Amino acid sequence: MLNHEYTSLNNGVKVPWVGLGVWTAERQDATDAVKFALRNGYRSIDTAAAYLNEGQVGKAIQESGVNREDLFIATKVANGDQGYESTLRAFDKSLETLHLDYLDLYLIHWPVKGKSLETWKALEHLYKEKKVRAIGVSNFQISDLEELWPVAEIKPMINQIEFHPYLTQKELSDYCKKQQIHMEAWSPLMKGLLSEHPILLEIARHHQKTVAQVILRWDIQNRYVTIPKSFNEKRILENLIVFDFMLSQEEMERISILNRNEKLPMPDMSKFREHDRT
Ligand code: NDP
Repeated sequence: MLNHEYTSLNNGVKVPWVGLGVWTAERQDATDAVKFALRNGYRSIDTAAAYLNEGQVGKAIQESGVNREDLFIATKVANGDQGYESTLRAFDKSLETLHLDYLDLYLIHWPVKGKSLETWKALEHLYKEKKVRAIGVSNFQISDLEELWPVAEIKPMINQIEFHPYLTQKELSDYCKKQQIHMEAWSPLMKGLLSEHPILLEIARHHQKTVAQVILRWDIQNRYVTIPKSFNEKRILENLIVFDFMLSQEEMERISILNRNEKLPMPDMSKFREHDRT
């Protein structure tokens, strides 16, 4: 029974099952949403250097009044910064922009051929120096993880991947679970595209919940940490109320078989420029 709000990584670090994602292709300011979330029970925030909003997250953390040790703050090294020395520099820049003196989770945002192994060694160094409490990867397939094993002294604690009812990546998930790598779902709500799905609506009505709450509960019961993005106060609150009901095994399966191996289109990153970093 998963009725508590935290899970544990393979190094014992506790992570909230639900965090707030802050990626926005529209460049919405994240400050108010993060502050509202932190003042209303969220403890985990997922950002990335590439989102160019670490400064906004940092400002919101400072203004929220929540104790640093109660927070779980994650960011990611951008593809252009991969490599050993450049990752160490990127980490320092992220810390400074976030106004923090350590991170809770640092991830390799995407595998980059010829670079990610060095990047991983840099993350191991930062972990050993106690500058970050957990390290991991994002968007790594089985082949990317297998390339890592000959050089890795420390296994990734998390693999953050696209995961929603239309994309379950079961083989990757099973592999990571065997390796004791915790799974984390990005775009868990498929950006809102599933909110009218008849099966999800039926399950939601049965539990007197919303489709979003049903999907997030399905994530958690699949042992995925989940990071829905919302900058809307009502939906920020809604997405956290997922610990007061359980999906049955049959409901879990009805959702899992919706899988279509369907990925979301990649965003146009050309709108995002380093000098816009705030
Ligand atoms: P999500 O699946 O979280 O969907 C976000 C969209 O759903 C927004 O339009 C939001 O609108 C809407 N929404 C949120 N809550 C509800 C609700 N309860 N009911 C109806 N609609 C809702 O998509 P994201 O792509 O933002 O993914 C979440 C996070 O994952 C990102 O913010 C980022 O932190 C991370 N991510 C990581 C990636 C990686 O490569 N590692 C790639 C992509 C995302 P509104 O704000 O108006 O509520």
